[in-house]
Amino acid sequence: MTDQRKIAIVGAGAVGITFAYTLQLSGLAREILLIDLDKKRLAGEVDDLNHGLFFVPPVEIRMGDYEDCRDARIIVIAAGAKQKPGETRLDLLKRNAGICRDIVRNITKYNSEAVFLVVTNPVDVLTYVALKSSGLPRNRVIGSGTVLDSARFRFLLSRQCGIDPRNVHAYVLGEHGDSEVAVWSMIHMSGVPLESVCQKCPNTLTKEKKERLTNAVRESAYHIIEAKGATYYAVSLAMQKIVEAILRDEKSILTVSSLMEGEYGMGEVCLSLPTVVGAGGAERVLSPPLAPKERDALLNSARVLKESIDQIDL
Ligand code: NAD
Repeated sequence: MTDQRKIAIVGAGAVGITFAYTLQLSGLAREILLIDLDKKRLAGEVDDLNHGLFFVPPVEIRMGDYEDCRDARIIVIAAGAKQKPGETRLDLLKRNAGICRDIVRNITKYNSEAVFLVVTNPVDVLTYVALKSSGLPRNRVIGSGTVLDSARFRFLLSRQCGIDPRNVHAYVLGEHGDSEVAVWSMIHMSGVPLESVCQKCPNTLTKEKKERLTNAVRESAYHIIEAKGATYYAVSLAMQKIVEAILRDEKSILTVSSLMEGEYGMGEVCLSLPTVVGAGGAERVLSPPLAPKERDALLNSARVLKESIDQIDL
């Protein structure tokens, strides 16, 4: 039996520990278990988090090992090598695939009921590695996918259009990486199509502006890594949103990464489509109508990911 409010985080680096902190503030978890190879640093992080318990809802935060994941409801994998400046996400593939495979195999010895959430990059390929190494059903091994990219897209559109990001509905689909697809045909602002918003705006989105904005979304991580070495705040909030949807059985539509089983003719690859996320993890993968160019770009994204998958031993 899993504890409905226990979250295990494997890999307590910048992303793992920032996620633990957002989770601590949220009150969502009853227990947060942290696992990392670097036990000395982790002990310091756990002390630092615990010293804030007076100020937040009750939660037990501790360090542990794989067997302590026995009753975790969600297992987050954020362990691995960091993206270096200029390095593409796919370059990280071989370094991180082995780490991910070992972690999943070690944990599934003790727990085969949890939902696994992969965050380590390249996240879509590693979600596939985790799924295949775990033997778990498709819905219970998911990646953070383009939840972060979609939030970046919404933020930039909100700035461009002068509208609250929470009223902007826009998705990035496909790979979390260079081949990702910003889906302009689906954008609306609380039901008002983008074209109608733009008609009334002196800041109309021209073709060039759209292209610049799409590139800005795609290149966000590179710029942040160049500036400060890593990205961790927004991704942690994206992870919290996914975990919240699972723990509360929200049936939220989020662009998590999961195994394709015939969507748009795709298969044997994990990538992001709008997905209903609830207690079962990725409960339903949706295939909305796309403009022909967007559909082609999505299929290209699947091809790019499949080429990476073919380069690793599963
Ligand atoms: P980091 O180097 O700060 O942390 C990685 C941690 O993993 C380190 O603490 C390291 O000791 C630990 N680790 C390595 N091998 C391990 C193992 N076998 N078992 C347990 N722990 C192990 O890196 P970071 O900035 O926290 O990023 C982590 C990952 O998240 C990277 O792959 C990064 O690219 C990715 N990331 C993904 C997204 C996304 O949207 N999917 C966003 C940001 C970062």
